[in-house]
Amino acid sequence: MQLSLFNSLGRKLETFAPLVPGKVGFYGCGPTVYNFAHIGNLRAYVTHDILSRTLRRAGYAATYVMNVTDVGHLTGDDDSGDDKMVKSAAERGQSVLEIARYYTDAFFADTERLNVRKPDVVCKATEHIGDMIALIERIEANGFTYSAGGNLYFDITKFPSYGELANLNMDDLKAGARIDVDPNKRNPHDFVLWFTKSKFENQALVWDSPWGRGYPGWHIECSAMSMKYLGESFDIHAGGIDHIPIHHTNEIAQSEAATGKKWVRYWIHNEFLVLDRGKMSKSKGGFLTLQTLVDAGYDPLDYRYFLLGGHYRSQLQFSYPALDGAKNARRSLADRVRALAKAAGGAQAAVPLGDKARGYLAAFDEHLSQDLNTPRALADLWGLLKDTEVPPAEALRAAFDMDGVLGFDLEKEAGGAAQEDEDPAFAAEIDALVAERAAAKKARDFAKADALRDTIKAKGIALEDGPSGTTWRRA
Ligand code: AMP
Ligand code: ZN
Repeated sequence: MQLSLFNSLGRKLETFAPLVPGKVGFYGCGPTVYNFAHIGNLRAYVTHDILSRTLRRAGYAATYVMNVTDVGHLTGDDDSGDDKMVKSAAERGQSVLEIARYYTDAFFADTERLNVRKPDVVCKATEHIGDMIALIERIEANGFTYSAGGNLYFDITKFPSYGELANLNMDDLKAGARIDVDPNKRNPHDFVLWFTKSKFENQALVWDSPWGRGYPGWHIECSAMSMKYLGESFDIHAGGIDHIPIHHTNEIAQSEAATGKKWVRYWIHNEFLVLDRGKMSKSKGGFLTLQTLVDAGYDPLDYRYFLLGGHYRSQLQFSYPALDGAKNARRSLADRVRALAKAAGGAQAAVPLGDKARGYLAAFDEHLSQDLNTPRALADLWGLLKDTEVPPAEALRAAFDMDGVLGFDLEKEAGGAAQEDEDPAFAAEIDALVAERAAAKKARDFAKADALRDTIKAKGIALEDGPSGTTWRRA
């Protein structure tokens, strides 16, 4: 499976070839944990998940690193406005750390409900201040900085390729002064590497540094943490398109200023999810969360299905009728898989695939490998499931294989069919044992839970533990 990815750096589809054969280092900008993620943010993380699952399907040993921003992100990405974390903490009457912990947990609960696999490394900005300071010192030693008004700034004129990612022109940049620009900046697009008291007198989180007691600018965390876990040059960096002109542009400038090396080779950006009313914004309030959808009667996976129905580089318009369409389609998918499971008569994991089933899988891989074309990949899944010439056991096995990337819990759906077919008394007995085991696990009585698993296994039943509970089927 040879991947082609659209690289925002250069704006063209490129054949993907990692720095080290067989391995991929991948960094995705994570959430700023001052509020719940809105469903637009979640589009970014589902995109990262599809990318990371596709890389693994293509046989790469991928390391996916994601940061959690718990300090230093101002309401304006260009250093303007208030600190998002401090503002949220003040509004809610809690400490910044309490806010960070609460919304970090909420974020991972949401992504788990969407079957977004947890990144291999999740790193918090506040736990990497030393790495950021060390990186800023390198940037300073290489002559890219100046101090003004107590802050340390990055001087973009010292970095000739500044703005390449966004196709920004240096002359336009110099001319494009903004009204509310920080008077300490020599150039409106210079950005802060380290703030001291000059910005906010009462900043809750501050650290000692060579430039005074203060806190880092927002962009530096991504450079410092990605390099720490993936090396000074790595393969893929992902995020939403809003990050191209400022955040990612600044990340590139400061990283390459520090190391003198090319930093990231492939830049992957997802387009926005928009509401009929326009852009969704966390800072401005009035946004939809995953819980909003759940409260309205949708399963989180309906939203995942809705997202995968659009290509990540196309703007996607959210509406409830469109989400209803996704919900119905996903329900039909589950029905189809259950019907096939019945027809196949139990689990057939080892069944060899014939030419037709293999053909659908090949098309699926081809579509995914062409810049993660999930709408076409979904169509391949449907083609497979509707093709009456593919024996049910083969269709199931191929569908489960595809589901390794799509993430719709199809095996669980099929397992539901197996349970429906059981003798009710036997099924009730297994259900009771499964419930007893869940209770033992909850009470952290793992010895009992393991013993119950063995009892269940001895009855010829295999268990599968998932985010929303345990399912069972005949082994
Ligand atoms: P933030 O927590 O604001 O830093 O945003 C988290 C991620 O969501 C970033 O990758 C953003 O680019 C992305 N993002 C923000 N709004 C949207 C949206 N409406 N649609 C898709 N992605 C978005
Ligand atoms: Zn970032």
